[in-house]
Formats: sequence, structure tokens, C-alpha cells
Amino acid sequence: MKTREGFVSNSSTTSFICGVCGDSEAYSDSCSLSDMDACQCAKCGESFHNDCIKEYENDENPLSKQEMLDALKKAWKYHDNDPYDVFTKNLAEIENEEEKLEVLKKTYENEVDDYDKPLTYCPVCSMKVISDGKILAYILETTSLTRESIENAIREKAKKG
Ligand SMILES: [Zn+2]
Ligand SMILES: [Zn+2]
Repeated sequence: MKTREGFVSNSSTTSFICGVCGDSEAYSDSCSLSDMDACQCAKCGESFHNDCIKEYENDENPLSKQEMLDALKKAWKYHDNDPYDVFTKNLAEIENEEEKLEVLKKTYENEVDDYDKPLTYCPVCSMKVISDGKILAYILETTSLTRESIENAIREKAKKG
């Protein structure tokens, strides 16, 4: 069986909290993340709406040539004849750099499925999104505040309000 790195979406769950938008989704029956139009980063374990992840795939965050090539190599590694070698050879023959990048991009889009997207796409792993948990951990580590003192302050504030 193919080992999935990057994003997984076949694990069963009844709920998840999106690591990008923070919205939670709950289902009465256990279903796979892909049924919920969501996926999970295999590295950090955060789950995301597919739509929320897409935001990080726009032109502002393009993958480098090497990242696309690595993803293609991975996507093709179970093919018998080595399409990666053929592809990179053909690519090397294209002299126009822009054209080369276009071909690479198109091939990447067509050949690499969602599961095999490189981890640079994970907004949490790539630190494009810092989770609330990480922010809390940072505050606790770098200030004199403790979890308890924050909790008590929140309780006090609620009383006054
Ligand atoms: Zn979301
Ligand atoms: Zn991640």
C-alpha cells in the first residue's frame, strides 16, 4: 500500500476544528475527512477545510521548482517505467525558462493529487498560520503569565462585566 505523506483525508472522525479558520465541524456519524471536504496534515496533525487550504495555494505562495519536481517524483514513484526521468529530460530541453515553468506547473497540477501535495502547503507547518495553541504556549513561555493567572483574570473580568 502506498504510504501517504503530506495530507491525509481517509481517517474517520466525527468532528474537527479547522486550523485555518478555527471553525469546528461536527457530524453525528463518524465519516472520513474527505466526506467533510477536509484533510489533515500528516506532519502536524492539524485538520483543515479543503477550501481553507486552497487559499495558501495561490500565486502569492508558489511552490519552488524543486518542490514541484520532488512532488512529481513522489507521485510517479510507483510507475514501472520511470516517467520522472523522461519528464525531467524533456523539461531540460525546453530553453525558454517561462515555458519550462509553465510545463512544470501544468504537469504538477495534473499529476500530483491532493494527498501528495508537499508539506509547504500546510499553513501550520509552514507557519503561515500560527495556531491559538502555539500563541498560548509562547505567552506562557516568554512572559510571567501562567495558565492559572490568565484563567483567574478571565474569571475576574467576567464577574465585573
Ligand atoms: Zn476552515
Ligand atoms: Zn502541518
